Amino acid sequence: MAMEIRQALCVFCADCETVCPTHSIQASGGTVLINQDSCTECEGHFDEPQCVSVCPTDGCIVPTP
Ligand code: SF4
Ligand code: SF4
Repeated sequence: MAMEIRQALCVFCADCETVCPTHSIQASGGTVLINQDSCTECEGHFDEPQCVSVCPTDGCIVPTP
């Protein structure tokens, strides 16, 4: 279970990077990526994925298929 960023919708604000409790989001070089191995969808930390809560773009961060 992990979330992923739909790159076409990301505006590279990096707001998601700072709120991730598992430090799974890295913004560098004009891209923002979620580490699929460490993202827990915030389970055990928060009721909702915090990256989704702060992202200004609806539908930008979605569960991996
Ligand atoms: S769902 Fe939670 S753990 Fe996963 S990247 Fe977003 S903030 Fe981090
Ligand atoms: S909060 Fe959303 S738009 Fe901003 S960097 Fe993260 S995924 Fe991209």
